[in-house]
This record gives sequence, structure tokens and C-alpha cells, in this order.
Amino acid sequence: MRVALVGNQNSGKTTLFNLLTGTNQKVGNWPGVTIERKVGTIRGTDFEIVDLPGIYSLSPYSIEEAISRRFLFEENVDLILNIIDSTSIERSLYLTTQLLELNIPVLIALNMSDIADKRGIKIDLHTLEEKLDTTIISISALKKTNVFNLIQYIKRQDYRKNYYTHIYDLHLEEAIKKLENLNETEHKRFLAVKLIEKDPLFNDFQNEESNQIIMDISKQYQRDMEQIIADERYRYIENIRDEAVSARKEQLTWTDRLDSVFLNRFFAIPIFMVIMFGVYYLAAGPVGGFTVEIVEDLMTTFGEWTSIWLNAIGASPWAVSLVVDGMIAGVGAILSFLPQLIILFLLISLLETTGYMSRIAFFLDRIFQKVGLSGKSLIPFIIGSGCSVPAILSARTINDETEKKMTIMLTPFIPCSAKLPIISLFAGYFFRDHSGLASASLYFLAVFVILISAYLMKKVLFKGKTSSFILELPEYKMPNFKYVFFDVTSKAGAFIQRAGSIILMASIVIWFLISFSWNLTYGVEANQSMLASIGNALAWIFYPMLGEWSWGATVSAVQGLVAKEQVVASMAIIAGYSEQTSEGLLIFGSGAFSFFTGASAYAFMVFNLFSAPCFGAIGAMRQELGTAKRMWGAVFFQTGIAWGLAVIVFNIGRFIEVIIL
Ligand code: GDP
Ligand code: MG
Repeated sequence: MRVALVGNQNSGKTTLFNLLTGTNQKVGNWPGVTIERKVGTIRGTDFEIVDLPGIYSLSPYSIEEAISRRFLFEENVDLILNIIDSTSIERSLYLTTQLLELNIPVLIALNMSDIADKRGIKIDLHTLEEKLDTTIISISALKKTNVFNLIQYIKRQDYRKNYYTHIYDLHLEEAIKKLENLNETEHKRFLAVKLIEKDPLFNDFQNEESNQIIMDISKQYQRDMEQIIADERYRYIENIRDEAVSARKEQLTWTDRLDSVFLNRFFAIPIFMVIMFGVYYLAAGPVGGFTVEIVEDLMTTFGEWTSIWLNAIGASPWAVSLVVDGMIAGVGAILSFLPQLIILFLLISLLETTGYMSRIAFFLDRIFQKVGLSGKSLIPFIIGSGCSVPAILSARTINDETEKKMTIMLTPFIPCSAKLPIISLFAGYFFRDHSGLASASLYFLAVFVILISAYLMKKVLFKGKTSSFILELPEYKMPNFKYVFFDVTSKAGAFIQRAGSIILMASIVIWFLISFSWNLTYGVEANQSMLASIGNALAWIFYPMLGEWSWGATVSAVQGLVAKEQVVASMAIIAGYSEQTSEGLLIFGSGAFSFFTGASAYAFMVFNLFSAPCFGAIGAMRQELGTAKRMWGAVFFQTGIAWGLAVIVFNIGRFIEVIIL
């Protein structure tokens, strides 16, 4: 038994094919063309099923149509499984009326019933079956509804054989009948209609008698017969639709109205950019900047008091230094960003709970598919704005191996919350009034780099097709404040916890390295410290993006491997040492970092944003990519991109600075 799966493009053929066959499929090409040919066995049977290319008619106007037609004619097909999109019955039935003219049973699967239900489209199956003289089953290939039933029908060969369908008006039907009696082929009716249409592929079947019949009928109509036949089909289909399909008057819901704006073809992306810009403006811009200063002042005061108190109880100078210049400076530098982060978490959480984030996923899906990622990649990317570790783990939901690997390698490019202190520190100081813009620009740069990298990776490293992803768009809702509250507090809690553990530890190590020289004398000049010599050994890497030989910036950036917050924490500690001051603009006021300009600041941000993530995330990549080799590949890839971009950005920036200033 051989079944041909026939239907329009996007009617769900491939989805249904995969369901029907499970893993029993062979993929190849149709002879002579690069159109995919899939053959499989229907589960629980030994019936062969072939996924034909998506077509709209059996006229040989396209390669797909020619392939399908030849297959149906020449390959002994026992059953045509005609899949129809319930939401556009009219368009689909045009093909069906042609299939019914073949001498092959047609079983119709009315697919996408889930969408039809949702839109309130009601289809009277019984009437439809009567009109088409065929068996019809309503299914949803995506939701797997009724597919088992469909298999049972096929297995038991329990379907009408559609002996007769009167589509055309009386004169035409009469002519068709006469022509049918003239030929001895298998598909009599189909051939008769083709002869009337004057289909060139059937010229061989013409003879005097048939030509006479066709001339007679053509005289009656005085128009192009192919057009008449098409009109008749449409008239018939309209008739069927009027009797069998009823659609509830669609009421525009609030969600529809909002979507007409937010998902508008032209406005969706600009609106998205404005919203994300707004989010960063509020979090990392002036509003957030103000909160940083307050907390910074508090921390400085706290440091001073602690130092007075420690001195009063007679603590030794190195102990005071450890607590104040190491622990408080490091952890305090990070904690001062907490209010900003809370604003960011709050805004993103609000966007999630109102349903807007799903919209972003929806329209980015189209763009993502173009570059070889799936819409599913968006979930890791969104989670990645919090932390890369759970984001990388969440890439597991992506079925396609290539897309999964690409997503894992690209997720760390999204600015996670630990990177926010870096962005906010540099953007706030060097771009002042435009800090929101500078921060948001990094976010867009990240998206841009992800898209370009994905495109190139797909081109160079991996080949293959992109799977599609149907996202159920939820209704817009009023924010759920309970959810928002727990979301924000748990993220903020995790951030504080990191400050109190990993950042605290790393700060102590940095304090140690900067306070001692290699022969372990305490209280050396910062330039003589172990930290300085480590930094000096690596400073050449950063010279091209800073325009300065800076051991301080070097060791700070390298510590991004421990935790991205540590970049800022480390700078705070180093700054405290270079000049014995802990005034407001501590970091860039200090000798160690006073060389920074807008260009090098932006370049340094870019490097820290895109370079290899922290050890936690690298570990997650190792686990999810499967091998250490792939992990190293990802780390070098990320760091390479980061370095290259930073150097480019620095040079462009310096060029602008030189021209303008
Ligand atoms: P083909 O071009 O006919 O092979 O169609 P596909 O199988 O590629 O499906 C086209 C799109 O429709 C995919 O995004 C499917 O996930 C989706 N789709 C298929 N069947 C259904 C269904 O029953 N319901 C819904 N909602 N979507 C479906
Ligand atoms: Mg397909």
C-alpha cells in the first residue's frame, strides 16, 4: 500500500508526516532537483507514505507541481492523503477538486483544527463529506489531536472511494462524460478535463472525436476553457463553503488590538527598540545612576567608620586594609549597583508578565530563522539577561543539535546582570547624559553580533535547515504583582549572595595580590605588587583596545572569568590603592584608570561583554556542548570576537575623538 501526502505549502504536511512515521523516514531528493523527498512507513503498518512537495494545483506550472503530478500518475499510489488547512478551506479545496478527478481514493485530513476552533470557524464535516464524496477527518498535527484515529482509518482502508463528483455545469459535465468514454487511461475524468483545458502535456491523447467534442463545448462558452474550468471549480468551492463553513463574527479583543500595534509589520521592531531603550534608560541611565551614587556614598561612609572603629580597637594596619580596602571596597562596588539591578529586574519582569516578551519572541522568530537559529533560542537569550548559566541549560529544549550548539555558544553574548555593573560604571561616567543610550546600544550590539555570528556559523560550520517554532501567544494581562515581587526578590537575592560569597573571596585574593610583592613583603607600592606583575605580563593583549599599557585594567578584565562583577570590584580595589583616596569618583579619578577616554571605555565594555563568560557559565557550556574541545572552541570564539570588536570600536572611537576634539 502506498500513500501520497498531498497539500498546499504550510498546510502541515511535514508535521503530519513526522507524526505518522515517527523515526521511520528516509530523506533524499526528487530526481534531478534539489527538492526534498521524504519517504517513510506509517506507524503500526507496512504502508509506505511519501511527503510530496507543497502545491496549489496539478497544472504543471512549477517543478513542484510537475513532480507531484508525475508521482501520482506513475507510482501506483493507493491513497491520496490530502491535508487541508481548516483556516483557509477555499484555497485548499482548489487542489482537492483536482485530486478527486484522479482515479485514486482521497482521504482528507482537515488540519489546524486547533486554530479553527480558536477562531470560531465551524466546519460541518458531514456536509463536506457529502459534497466531496470522500471521507474527512479533522485533526491537529501540531497538537496531535485525532492523528491516531486518522491512522486507524488508513489502516482499515475505511474511507469512501469518491466515485463521482459533479463539479461543473451540465454542458461541461456532458462533454466530460463523452470524453471519458473515449479514452482507455486509468485517470479518465482527469484526462477529460485536461483535454478541455487544452493542457499541452496531454496533446498526445487528442484525436478527431475528442477534438470535435471540445470544439463544440468551446463554441458554447466563447472563452478560454482553462479559465472556465477554474471558474467552475471556484464556484463549486464557494458553494460548499457557504453550506459547510460558518465563522463566528470575530470580535476584536484587547489582545488583538494591542497586537495590531505591537506586532505591526512596520512598528514592531521600532517599538521593541524604544521599549528596551526605555528599560536601560531607567536602569542604567540617570535614574539608576542616581541610586548608585547614594549607595556608593553609604559604602564610603561605612568604610571610613569601619576603619576608625578597627583602628580604635587596635587592629593591625594590614587587617584594617584587608577589611576596608579589600572586602568593603570590592563587595561595596558591586552592591552599589543593586538598586539599578532591581529596577532592571522589575522592568523585565513586568514585560514578561504582561505578555510582551512572548511577542518579542514571536517576531524575532522570523528573523532568527533567517540566520539559522530557531525561535526557541530566544528563551535562553531572555533568561540570559539574568544569568548565562540557567540560560545555557535551558537550551536543552531545542531539538535540533546544530541550533542548540549555536544557541549555547551565543547565549553568553547577552549582557547578563553581572555585566550590568560594568556597563553602568563606564557608561555612567563617560557618557553621562547619554548613558542610557550607551547602555542600550550595547544591548543592540549584542543582538546584532548574535545574528551575524549565527549567520556565519551556519554558513561556515554547520549546514542544514532551520526548524520552525510555533509559539502560542498568550493574552495580554495586567501584571501579576506577586510574580513580579518574587521574581525580583529572588534575582536580587542571588545577586547579593554572589557579592557575599564569590565576590568577597575574589576581593580578598585581589587585596592579597596587590598588597604583597613576590617576596611577600606587605605594603609595597601597587606597581611592585604581584598583581601588577601578572597584569604587566598580559597587558599587551589589552593595549590595542585601550591605547595604554595598563596592568590594572588587564587583571580586572581577566577576573571577569571568576565573575563579571569582579571586573568592577577589582577596579575599585586597585583604584583605592593607586591613590590613597576613597572619594566619590574613586575609580576614574585614580591614577590607575585616569587614562580611560570615551573610546577606550566603550571598547573595554565591549570586550567584557563579549569575551568568555565566567567559570560558572563555561562549566555549563562544557556540560551542554558535551566535550571539552567544543567548550574551548566556544571560549576562543567568544574571546576572539570580543577582542576583535573591542579593537575596532576603540579605533573608530579614537578616530572620532581626534576629529571632533
Ligand atoms: P508543510 O509546508 O505543509 O510541510 O507544513 P509544515 O509541516 O512545515 O507546517 C507549517 C507550519 O504549521 C509549522 O510551523 C507547523 O508547526 C504548523 N502546524 C502544522 N500543523 C499544525 C496544526 O495542526 N496546528 C497549528 N496550530 N499549527 C500547525
Ligand atoms: Mg514540508
